[in-house]
Amino acid sequence: MPVAAISPEVITRYEPVIGLEVHVQLLTETKVFCSCANRFGAEPNTNVCPVCLGLPGALPVTNRKAVEFAAMAALALNCQVRERSIFARKNYFYPDLPKGYQISQFDKPLAENGWIDVPAAGGAIKRIGITRLHMEEDAGKSLHEGFSDSATRSYLDLNRCGTPLAEIVSEPDIRTPDEAFEYLTRLKEILLYAGVSDCNMEEGSLRCDANVSIRPRGQKNFGSKVEVKNVNSFKFIRAALEYEIERQIEVVESGGRIVQETRLWNANEGRTYSMRSKEQAHDYRYFPEPDLPPLVLSPGLIEEFRKKLPELPEARRARMIAQYDLSLQDAHTLTASRLFADRFEAAAKTARNPRRVANLLLSEVGGRLKALGLEPEQSPVSMAGIVQAADLLDQDKISSRQLKQLLDVCFEKGEDFALVYEREKPQQITDAAAIEKLVDEAIAANPKQVEQYRAGKKTMAGFFVGQVMRTSKGQANPALLNELVTKKLEG
Ligand code: ADP
Ligand code: ZN
Ligand code: MG
Repeated sequence: MPVAAISPEVITRYEPVIGLEVHVQLLTETKVFCSCANRFGAEPNTNVCPVCLGLPGALPVTNRKAVEFAAMAALALNCQVRERSIFARKNYFYPDLPKGYQISQFDKPLAENGWIDVPAAGGAIKRIGITRLHMEEDAGKSLHEGFSDSATRSYLDLNRCGTPLAEIVSEPDIRTPDEAFEYLTRLKEILLYAGVSDCNMEEGSLRCDANVSIRPRGQKNFGSKVEVKNVNSFKFIRAALEYEIERQIEVVESGGRIVQETRLWNANEGRTYSMRSKEQAHDYRYFPEPDLPPLVLSPGLIEEFRKKLPELPEARRARMIAQYDLSLQDAHTLTASRLFADRFEAAAKTARNPRRVANLLLSEVGGRLKALGLEPEQSPVSMAGIVQAADLLDQDKISSRQLKQLLDVCFEKGEDFALVYEREKPQQITDAAAIEKLVDEAIAANPKQVEQYRAGKKTMAGFFVGQVMRTSKGQANPALLNELVTKKLEG
Protein backbone atom coordinates (compact mmCIF):
# COMPACT_ATOMS: atom_id res chain seq x y z
CA MET A 1 0.00 0.00 0.00
CA PRO A 2 1.56 3.31 -1.04
CA VAL A 3 1.78 5.71 1.86
CA ALA A 4 1.82 9.06 0.13
CA ALA A 5 -1.78 9.72 -0.74
CA ILE A 6 -2.88 11.32 2.53
CA SER A 7 -2.29 14.98 3.23
CA PRO A 8 -0.59 16.23 6.41
CA GLU A 9 -3.86 17.95 7.29
CA VAL A 10 -5.69 14.61 7.33
CA ILE A 11 -2.93 13.02 9.39
CA THR A 12 -3.29 15.65 12.13
CA ARG A 13 -6.93 14.67 12.57
CA TYR A 14 -5.80 11.35 14.07
CA GLU A 15 -3.97 10.62 17.27
CA PRO A 16 -1.60 7.65 17.42
CA VAL A 17 -1.57 5.46 20.53
CA ILE A 18 1.55 3.41 21.15
CA GLY A 19 2.60 0.83 23.74
CA LEU A 20 5.95 -0.98 23.72
CA GLU A 21 6.90 -4.46 24.87
CA VAL A 22 10.63 -4.79 25.45
CA HIS A 23 12.53 -7.99 26.16
CA VAL A 24 15.99 -7.72 27.66
CA GLN A 25 18.40 -10.54 28.34
CA LEU A 26 19.86 -10.38 31.82
CA LEU A 27 23.63 -10.47 32.22
CA THR A 28 23.88 -13.49 34.49
CA GLU A 29 26.69 -16.03 34.33
CA THR A 30 24.25 -18.90 33.99
CA LYS A 31 20.77 -19.47 32.62
CA VAL A 32 17.59 -18.76 34.56
CA PHE A 33 16.55 -22.30 35.52
CA CYS A 34 19.73 -24.37 34.99
CA SER A 35 23.48 -23.95 35.36
CA CYS A 36 24.34 -23.76 31.64
CA ALA A 37 26.50 -20.79 30.65
CA ASN A 38 24.55 -17.74 29.54
CA ARG A 39 26.85 -16.60 26.75
CA PHE A 40 26.27 -15.18 23.29
CA GLY A 41 28.24 -16.50 20.33
CA ALA A 42 29.19 -19.98 21.58
CA GLU A 43 29.39 -22.97 19.21
CA PRO A 44 25.73 -23.94 18.49
CA ASN A 45 24.09 -26.38 20.91
CA THR A 46 27.03 -26.50 23.33
CA ASN A 47 25.43 -24.61 26.26
CA VAL A 48 22.52 -26.98 26.79
CA CYS A 49 21.40 -29.52 29.40
CA PRO A 50 18.34 -31.66 30.16
CA VAL A 51 16.64 -28.73 31.95
CA CYS A 52 16.88 -26.13 29.18
CA LEU A 53 16.21 -28.77 26.54
CA GLY A 54 13.08 -29.80 28.43
CA LEU A 55 13.97 -33.47 28.63
CA PRO A 56 11.49 -35.58 30.64
CA GLY A 57 12.06 -35.53 34.39
CA ALA A 58 14.43 -32.57 34.44
CA LEU A 59 13.49 -29.92 37.00
CA PRO A 60 14.14 -26.16 36.93
CA VAL A 61 15.75 -24.23 39.80
CA THR A 62 15.46 -20.45 39.81
CA ASN A 63 18.72 -18.49 39.41
CA ARG A 64 19.02 -16.06 42.32
CA LYS A 65 21.09 -13.60 40.29
CA ALA A 66 18.44 -13.48 37.55
CA VAL A 67 15.84 -12.55 40.18
CA GLU A 68 18.20 -9.92 41.57
CA PHE A 69 18.80 -8.36 38.14
CA ALA A 70 15.11 -8.41 37.20
CA ALA A 71 14.20 -6.82 40.53
CA MET A 72 16.94 -4.20 40.16
CA ALA A 73 15.63 -3.36 36.67
CA ALA A 74 12.12 -3.08 38.08
CA LEU A 75 13.23 -0.80 40.92
CA ALA A 76 15.27 1.37 38.54
CA LEU A 77 12.07 1.75 36.49
CA ASN A 78 10.09 2.88 39.56
CA CYS A 79 8.03 -0.32 39.72
CA GLN A 80 6.61 -1.93 42.82
CA VAL A 81 8.19 -5.33 43.29
CA ARG A 82 5.81 -8.02 44.52
CA GLU A 83 6.79 -9.96 47.58
CA ARG A 84 5.18 -13.01 46.04
CA SER A 85 5.08 -13.61 42.31
CA ILE A 86 4.19 -16.72 40.35
CA PHE A 87 5.90 -18.42 37.43
CA ALA A 88 3.51 -19.61 34.75
CA ARG A 89 3.69 -21.87 31.73
CA LYS A 90 3.00 -20.24 28.40
CA ASN A 91 2.23 -23.10 26.07
CA TYR A 92 2.96 -23.02 22.35
CA PHE A 93 4.67 -25.10 19.74
CA TYR A 94 7.70 -23.87 17.86
CA PRO A 95 10.82 -25.75 16.77
CA ASP A 96 13.08 -23.46 18.81
CA LEU A 97 11.10 -24.29 21.98
CA PRO A 98 11.75 -27.97 22.63
CA LYS A 99 9.85 -27.98 25.93
CA GLY A 100 6.60 -26.95 24.22
CA TYR A 101 6.17 -24.20 26.79
CA GLN A 102 8.03 -21.19 28.03
CA ILE A 103 8.32 -20.45 31.74
CA SER A 104 7.06 -16.90 32.13
CA GLN A 105 4.90 -14.93 34.53
CA PHE A 106 1.28 -14.08 33.92
CA ASP A 107 -1.20 -12.81 36.47
CA LYS A 108 1.23 -12.23 39.33
CA PRO A 109 4.31 -10.73 37.67
CA LEU A 110 7.47 -9.76 39.54
CA ALA A 111 6.76 -6.03 39.35
CA GLU A 112 4.12 -3.49 38.30
CA ASN A 113 3.24 0.21 38.09
CA GLY A 114 6.50 1.86 37.12
CA TRP A 115 7.33 4.76 34.84
CA ILE A 116 9.96 6.47 32.75
CA ASP A 117 10.08 10.24 32.28
CA VAL A 118 10.89 11.30 28.73
CA PRO A 119 11.51 14.75 27.28
CA ALA A 120 8.49 15.95 25.33
CA ALA A 121 7.82 18.87 23.01
CA GLY A 122 8.64 22.36 24.28
CA GLY A 123 11.01 21.25 27.04
CA ALA A 124 8.23 19.49 28.96
CA ILE A 125 8.60 16.12 30.66
CA LYS A 126 6.19 13.31 29.93
CA ARG A 127 5.72 10.31 32.18
CA ILE A 128 5.23 6.99 30.37
CA GLY A 129 3.70 4.31 32.57
CA ILE A 130 5.14 0.83 32.84
CA THR A 131 2.40 -1.72 33.32
CA ARG A 132 4.60 -4.59 34.43
CA LEU A 133 8.01 -6.17 34.41
CA HIS A 134 8.05 -9.94 34.50
CA MET A 135 10.66 -12.67 34.30
CA GLU A 136 10.73 -15.35 31.66
CA GLU A 137 13.10 -17.61 29.77
CA ASP A 138 14.20 -17.07 26.20
CA ALA A 139 13.66 -19.63 23.42
CA GLY A 140 16.31 -21.01 21.06
CA LYS A 141 17.07 -19.71 17.60
CA SER A 142 16.07 -21.03 14.18
CA LEU A 143 18.77 -20.41 11.60
CA HIS A 144 17.23 -19.93 8.17
CA GLU A 145 20.28 -18.65 6.33
CA GLY A 146 24.05 -18.92 6.12
CA PHE A 147 24.28 -22.65 5.30
CA SER A 148 24.95 -24.19 1.88
CA ASP A 149 21.58 -25.97 2.08
CA SER A 150 19.67 -23.05 3.56
CA ALA A 151 17.36 -23.05 0.56
CA THR A 152 15.86 -26.33 1.71
CA ARG A 153 16.68 -26.62 5.42
CA SER A 154 16.62 -24.66 8.63
CA TYR A 155 18.88 -25.33 11.60
CA LEU A 156 18.34 -24.95 15.33
CA ASP A 157 20.67 -23.47 17.89
CA LEU A 158 19.29 -24.11 21.38
CA ASN A 159 22.03 -22.25 23.29
CA ARG A 160 19.62 -19.39 23.91
CA CYS A 161 16.96 -21.64 25.49
CA GLY A 162 16.65 -20.65 29.14
CA THR A 163 18.46 -17.31 28.87
CA PRO A 164 16.94 -15.06 31.55
CA LEU A 165 14.72 -12.29 30.23
CA ALA A 166 12.88 -9.38 31.74
CA GLU A 167 9.85 -8.30 29.74
CA ILE A 168 8.93 -4.67 30.25
CA VAL A 169 5.46 -3.67 29.06
CA SER A 170 4.55 0.00 28.75
CA GLU A 171 1.12 1.52 29.19
CA PRO A 172 -0.42 2.81 25.94
CA ASP A 173 0.79 6.29 26.96
CA ILE A 174 3.08 7.02 24.04
CA ARG A 175 1.63 9.34 21.39
CA THR A 176 4.32 9.82 18.75
CA PRO A 177 7.13 7.80 17.16
CA ASP A 178 9.59 10.31 18.65
CA GLU A 179 8.27 9.63 22.14
CA ALA A 180 8.68 5.92 21.49
CA PHE A 181 12.29 6.56 20.48
CA GLU A 182 12.92 8.62 23.62
CA TYR A 183 11.28 5.99 25.83
CA LEU A 184 13.53 3.29 24.42
CA THR A 185 16.62 5.47 24.68
CA ARG A 186 15.91 6.20 28.35
CA LEU A 187 14.99 2.60 29.10
CA LYS A 188 18.23 1.33 27.61
CA GLU A 189 20.26 3.95 29.46
CA ILE A 190 18.65 3.02 32.79
CA LEU A 191 19.21 -0.71 32.25
CA LEU A 192 22.84 -0.12 31.25
CA TYR A 193 23.42 1.98 34.36
CA ALA A 194 21.76 -0.67 36.51
CA GLY A 195 24.22 -3.11 34.93
CA VAL A 196 21.59 -5.80 34.42
CA SER A 197 21.78 -6.13 30.62
CA ASP A 198 24.13 -5.11 27.83
CA CYS A 199 21.07 -4.08 25.77
CA ASN A 200 22.84 -5.00 22.55
CA MET A 201 20.15 -4.97 19.87
CA GLU A 202 22.38 -6.49 17.19
CA GLU A 203 22.99 -9.52 19.36
CA GLY A 204 19.33 -9.64 20.35
CA SER A 205 19.81 -8.87 24.03
CA LEU A 206 17.25 -6.07 23.67
CA ARG A 207 14.20 -6.67 21.48
CA CYS A 208 11.14 -4.52 21.07
CA ASP A 209 7.62 -5.14 19.79
CA ALA A 210 5.63 -2.00 19.06
CA ASN A 211 1.85 -1.84 19.46
CA VAL A 212 0.16 0.99 17.64
CA SER A 213 -3.35 2.17 16.90
CA ILE A 214 -4.96 5.41 15.78
CA ARG A 215 -8.11 7.23 16.83
CA PRO A 216 -9.77 10.45 15.69
CA ARG A 217 -8.47 13.24 17.94
CA GLY A 218 -10.87 13.76 20.82
CA GLN A 219 -12.17 10.18 20.79
CA LYS A 220 -11.80 8.48 24.14
CA ASN A 221 -11.75 4.81 23.14
CA PHE A 222 -8.65 3.29 21.63
CA GLY A 223 -8.73 1.87 18.12
CA SER A 224 -7.73 -1.72 17.29
CA LYS A 225 -4.00 -2.15 17.67
CA VAL A 226 -1.44 -3.65 15.38
CA GLU A 227 1.67 -5.26 16.83
CA VAL A 228 4.84 -4.70 14.81
CA LYS A 229 7.61 -7.25 15.28
CA ASN A 230 11.04 -7.89 13.84
CA VAL A 231 12.43 -4.38 14.30
CA ASN A 232 16.09 -4.34 15.28
CA SER A 233 17.01 -0.75 16.00
CA PHE A 234 15.40 2.20 17.75
CA LYS A 235 15.55 4.18 14.52
CA PHE A 236 13.68 1.43 12.71
CA ILE A 237 11.08 1.33 15.52
CA ARG A 238 10.47 5.01 14.87
CA ALA A 239 10.34 4.45 11.11
CA ALA A 240 8.05 1.42 11.47
CA LEU A 241 5.68 3.40 13.69
CA GLU A 242 5.67 6.32 11.25
CA TYR A 243 4.87 3.96 8.41
CA GLU A 244 2.23 2.08 10.35
CA ILE A 245 0.44 5.23 11.55
CA GLU A 246 0.13 6.51 7.99
CA ARG A 247 -0.95 3.11 6.73
CA GLN A 248 -3.70 2.88 9.35
CA ILE A 249 -4.92 6.40 8.63
CA GLU A 250 -5.03 5.59 4.95
CA VAL A 251 -7.05 2.43 5.57
CA VAL A 252 -9.56 4.31 7.70
CA GLU A 253 -9.73 7.30 5.35
CA SER A 254 -10.52 5.04 2.43
CA GLY A 255 -13.44 3.51 4.31
CA GLY A 256 -11.63 0.43 5.64
CA ARG A 257 -11.28 -0.93 9.15
CA ILE A 258 -8.12 -1.75 11.12
CA VAL A 259 -8.04 -5.39 12.13
CA GLN A 260 -6.04 -6.48 15.14
CA GLU A 261 -3.03 -8.27 13.75
CA THR A 262 0.69 -8.86 14.00
CA ARG A 263 2.82 -7.30 11.27
CA LEU A 264 6.48 -7.70 10.42
CA TRP A 265 8.78 -4.79 9.64
CA ASN A 266 10.83 -5.10 6.48
CA ALA A 267 13.79 -2.74 6.86
CA ASN A 268 14.87 -3.03 3.21
CA GLU A 269 11.49 -1.94 1.93
CA GLY A 270 10.70 0.37 4.83
CA ARG A 271 7.23 -1.11 5.32
CA THR A 272 5.29 -3.65 7.38
CA TYR A 273 3.64 -6.86 6.20
CA SER A 274 0.78 -8.74 7.81
CA MET A 275 1.97 -11.89 9.60
CA ARG A 276 -1.11 -13.14 11.40
CA SER A 277 -4.50 -11.79 12.38
CA LYS A 278 -6.23 -12.00 15.75
CA GLU A 279 -8.15 -15.06 14.60
CA GLN A 280 -4.88 -16.91 14.21
CA ALA A 281 -3.52 -15.59 17.51
CA HIS A 282 -2.26 -18.08 20.07
CA ASP A 283 -4.18 -19.23 23.08
CA TYR A 284 -1.25 -19.83 25.38
CA ARG A 285 -3.25 -21.71 27.99
CA TYR A 286 -1.27 -20.12 30.83
CA PHE A 287 -1.23 -22.00 34.12
CA PRO A 288 0.99 -21.80 37.24
CA GLU A 289 4.29 -23.62 36.70
CA PRO A 290 3.98 -26.81 38.76
CA ASP A 291 7.74 -27.37 38.96
CA LEU A 292 8.56 -24.06 40.64
CA PRO A 293 7.36 -22.66 43.95
CA PRO A 294 6.08 -19.07 44.14
CA LEU A 295 8.91 -16.55 44.07
CA VAL A 296 8.97 -14.97 47.52
CA LEU A 297 11.05 -11.85 48.19
CA SER A 298 11.12 -10.32 51.66
CA PRO A 299 10.91 -6.52 51.97
CA GLY A 300 14.45 -6.63 53.34
CA LEU A 301 15.74 -8.43 50.29
CA ILE A 302 13.97 -6.00 47.97
CA GLU A 303 15.68 -3.16 49.85
CA GLU A 304 19.01 -4.91 49.42
CA PHE A 305 18.40 -5.03 45.68
CA ARG A 306 17.53 -1.34 45.70
CA LYS A 307 20.78 -0.52 47.49
CA LYS A 308 22.73 -2.24 44.74
CA LEU A 309 21.52 0.28 42.18
CA PRO A 310 23.97 3.03 41.29
CA GLU A 311 22.93 6.64 40.95
CA LEU A 312 20.66 6.54 37.88
CA PRO A 313 21.14 8.71 34.78
CA GLU A 314 18.40 11.26 35.48
CA ALA A 315 19.55 11.92 39.04
CA ARG A 316 23.18 11.91 38.02
CA ARG A 317 22.60 14.51 35.34
CA ALA A 318 20.76 16.77 37.78
CA ARG A 319 23.61 16.51 40.28
CA MET A 320 26.33 17.01 37.69
CA ILE A 321 24.62 20.06 36.18
CA ALA A 322 24.85 21.73 39.58
CA GLN A 323 28.25 20.39 40.54
CA TYR A 324 30.11 21.17 37.31
CA ASP A 325 28.00 24.02 36.03
CA LEU A 326 26.86 22.15 32.91
CA SER A 327 24.11 22.61 30.38
CA LEU A 328 21.61 19.77 30.13
CA GLN A 329 23.10 18.78 26.80
CA ASP A 330 26.62 18.68 28.27
CA ALA A 331 25.30 16.59 31.15
CA HIS A 332 23.89 14.14 28.60
CA THR A 333 27.25 13.97 26.85
CA LEU A 334 29.12 13.25 30.08
CA THR A 335 26.63 10.66 31.33
CA ALA A 336 26.07 8.88 28.02
CA SER A 337 27.83 5.88 29.51
CA ARG A 338 28.18 5.11 33.19
CA LEU A 339 31.79 4.05 32.74
CA PHE A 340 32.69 7.32 31.03
CA ALA A 341 30.89 9.38 33.66
CA ASP A 342 32.67 7.41 36.39
CA ARG A 343 36.06 7.97 34.78
CA PHE A 344 35.36 11.66 34.38
CA GLU A 345 34.23 12.14 37.96
CA ALA A 346 37.08 10.13 39.42
CA ALA A 347 39.55 12.31 37.50
CA ALA A 348 37.77 15.61 38.11
CA LYS A 349 37.89 14.96 41.85
CA THR A 350 41.68 15.13 41.76
CA ALA A 351 41.78 18.48 39.94
CA ARG A 352 42.10 21.92 41.53
CA ASN A 353 38.98 22.98 39.65
CA PRO A 354 36.67 20.11 38.59
CA ARG A 355 34.48 22.45 36.55
CA ARG A 356 37.44 23.29 34.38
CA VAL A 357 38.04 19.59 33.74
CA ALA A 358 34.44 19.24 32.57
CA ASN A 359 34.81 22.27 30.40
CA LEU A 360 38.04 21.11 28.75
CA LEU A 361 36.70 17.62 28.24
CA LEU A 362 33.56 18.93 26.55
CA SER A 363 34.96 21.84 24.56
CA GLU A 364 38.64 21.49 23.68
CA VAL A 365 38.96 17.71 23.73
CA GLY A 366 35.34 16.97 22.74
CA GLY A 367 35.53 19.41 19.84
CA ARG A 368 38.70 17.84 18.47
CA LEU A 369 37.26 14.33 18.82
CA LYS A 370 34.13 15.40 17.01
CA ALA A 371 36.05 17.05 14.19
CA LEU A 372 37.98 13.81 13.67
CA GLY A 373 34.92 11.58 14.08
CA LEU A 374 36.49 9.81 17.08
CA GLU A 375 34.78 8.25 20.07
CA PRO A 376 35.80 9.35 23.60
CA GLU A 377 37.62 6.04 24.12
CA GLN A 378 39.79 6.82 21.09
CA SER A 379 41.05 10.11 22.51
CA PRO A 380 44.85 10.39 22.61
CA VAL A 381 44.43 12.65 25.63
CA SER A 382 43.61 10.71 28.80
CA MET A 383 41.44 11.95 31.67
CA ALA A 384 44.67 12.39 33.65
CA GLY A 385 46.01 14.52 30.80
CA ILE A 386 42.93 16.72 30.92
CA VAL A 387 43.30 17.12 34.67
CA GLN A 388 46.95 18.11 34.22
CA ALA A 389 46.00 20.65 31.55
CA ALA A 390 43.24 22.06 33.73
CA ASP A 391 45.61 22.44 36.69
CA LEU A 392 48.22 24.19 34.54
CA LEU A 393 45.58 26.63 33.30
CA ASP A 394 44.32 27.09 36.80
CA GLN A 395 47.77 28.03 38.06
CA ASP A 396 48.42 30.29 35.05
CA LYS A 397 51.37 28.15 34.08
CA ILE A 398 50.10 28.04 30.51
CA SER A 399 47.72 30.28 28.62
CA SER A 400 44.61 28.92 26.97
CA ARG A 401 46.22 29.71 23.66
CA GLN A 402 49.18 27.51 24.56
CA LEU A 403 46.83 24.82 25.73
CA LYS A 404 45.14 24.78 22.35
CA GLN A 405 48.50 24.46 20.64
CA LEU A 406 49.51 21.58 22.91
CA LEU A 407 46.23 19.78 22.28
CA ASP A 408 46.69 20.25 18.55
CA VAL A 409 50.02 18.44 18.84
CA CYS A 410 48.42 15.67 20.98
CA PHE A 411 45.81 15.00 18.33
CA GLU A 412 48.23 15.37 15.44
CA LYS A 413 50.69 12.86 16.87
CA GLY A 414 48.30 10.71 18.86
CA GLU A 415 50.18 11.47 22.08
CA ASP A 416 48.90 12.10 25.58
CA PHE A 417 49.08 15.54 27.15
CA ALA A 418 51.82 14.80 29.72
CA LEU A 419 54.22 13.66 27.01
CA VAL A 420 53.62 16.64 24.75
CA TYR A 421 53.77 19.11 27.63
CA GLU A 422 57.11 17.72 28.86
CA ARG A 423 58.62 17.90 25.39
CA GLU A 424 57.29 21.29 24.33
CA LYS A 425 57.44 23.01 27.77
CA PRO A 426 55.80 26.19 26.45
CA GLN A 427 57.70 29.38 27.21
CA GLN A 428 56.11 31.89 29.49
CA ILE A 429 56.86 35.59 29.89
CA THR A 430 56.69 36.42 33.58
CA ASP A 431 58.64 39.64 33.39
CA ALA A 432 56.10 42.32 34.32
CA ALA A 433 57.98 45.07 32.49
CA ALA A 434 57.98 43.07 29.25
CA ILE A 435 54.25 42.39 29.50
CA GLU A 436 53.55 45.98 30.43
CA LYS A 437 55.28 47.11 27.26
CA LEU A 438 53.04 44.87 25.15
CA VAL A 439 49.94 46.13 26.98
CA ASP A 440 50.98 49.74 26.35
CA GLU A 441 51.40 48.96 22.66
CA ALA A 442 47.97 47.35 22.47
CA ILE A 443 46.36 50.30 24.21
CA ALA A 444 48.10 52.80 21.94
CA ALA A 445 47.01 50.88 18.83
CA ASN A 446 43.34 50.61 19.79
CA PRO A 447 42.05 53.95 21.08
CA LYS A 448 38.46 53.18 20.13
CA GLN A 449 38.37 50.10 22.34
CA VAL A 450 39.99 52.02 25.18
CA GLU A 451 37.21 54.60 24.90
CA GLN A 452 34.57 51.87 25.00
CA TYR A 453 36.14 50.38 28.10
CA ARG A 454 36.27 53.71 29.85
CA ALA A 455 32.65 54.37 28.86
CA GLY A 456 31.73 51.33 30.96
CA LYS A 457 32.14 48.33 28.66
CA LYS A 458 34.36 46.37 31.04
CA THR A 459 34.33 43.25 28.89
CA MET A 460 36.67 45.13 26.54
CA ALA A 461 39.48 44.06 28.87
CA GLY A 462 39.22 40.65 27.22
CA PHE A 463 39.94 42.23 23.86
CA PHE A 464 43.26 43.64 25.13
CA VAL A 465 44.21 40.39 26.80
CA GLY A 466 43.57 38.72 23.44
CA GLN A 467 45.69 41.30 21.62
CA VAL A 468 48.66 40.78 23.91
CA MET A 469 48.29 37.01 23.83
CA ARG A 470 48.52 37.30 20.08
CA THR A 471 51.60 39.55 20.01
CA SER A 472 53.26 37.42 22.72
CA LYS A 473 52.37 34.21 20.86
CA GLY A 474 50.38 33.09 23.87
CA GLN A 475 53.40 33.37 26.14
CA ALA A 476 52.31 36.17 28.47
CA ASN A 477 51.58 34.92 31.98
CA PRO A 478 47.77 35.11 32.08
CA ALA A 479 47.49 36.32 35.68
CA LEU A 480 50.04 39.11 35.24
CA LEU A 481 48.55 40.08 31.92
CA ASN A 482 45.01 40.33 33.29
CA GLU A 483 46.21 42.43 36.18
CA LEU A 484 48.21 44.79 33.99
CA VAL A 485 45.46 45.23 31.43
CA THR A 486 42.99 46.26 34.11
CA LYS A 487 45.50 48.54 35.78
CA LYS A 488 46.40 50.33 32.53
CA LEU A 489 42.82 50.69 31.34
CA GLU A 490 41.67 52.02 34.69
CA GLY A 491 44.70 54.31 34.99
P1 ADP B 1 -2.22 -8.20 24.31
O1 ADP B 1 -3.32 -8.82 25.11
O2 ADP B 1 -2.46 -8.17 22.85
O3 ADP B 1 -0.87 -8.68 24.70
P2 ADP B 1 -1.96 -5.98 26.10
O4 ADP B 1 -3.17 -5.29 26.60
O5 ADP B 1 -1.25 -6.93 26.99
O6 ADP B 1 -2.30 -6.66 24.70
O7 ADP B 1 -0.95 -4.86 25.66
C1 ADP B 1 0.25 -5.13 25.01
C2 ADP B 1 0.89 -3.81 24.66
O8 ADP B 1 0.07 -3.09 23.75
C3 ADP B 1 1.08 -2.87 25.83
O9 ADP B 1 2.34 -2.22 25.70
C4 ADP B 1 -0.04 -1.88 25.71
O10 ADP B 1 0.30 -0.62 26.23
C5 ADP B 1 -0.23 -1.80 24.23
N1 ADP B 1 -1.62 -1.50 23.82
C6 ADP B 1 -2.76 -2.03 24.32
N2 ADP B 1 -3.83 -1.56 23.66
C7 ADP B 1 -3.36 -0.70 22.71
C8 ADP B 1 -3.97 0.10 21.70
N3 ADP B 1 -5.28 0.10 21.50
N4 ADP B 1 -3.16 0.82 20.90
C9 ADP B 1 -1.83 0.80 21.07
N5 ADP B 1 -1.20 0.08 21.99
C10 ADP B 1 -1.95 -0.67 22.82
ZN1 ZN C 1 20.75 -25.87 30.65
MG1 MG D 1 -0.37 -8.94 26.82
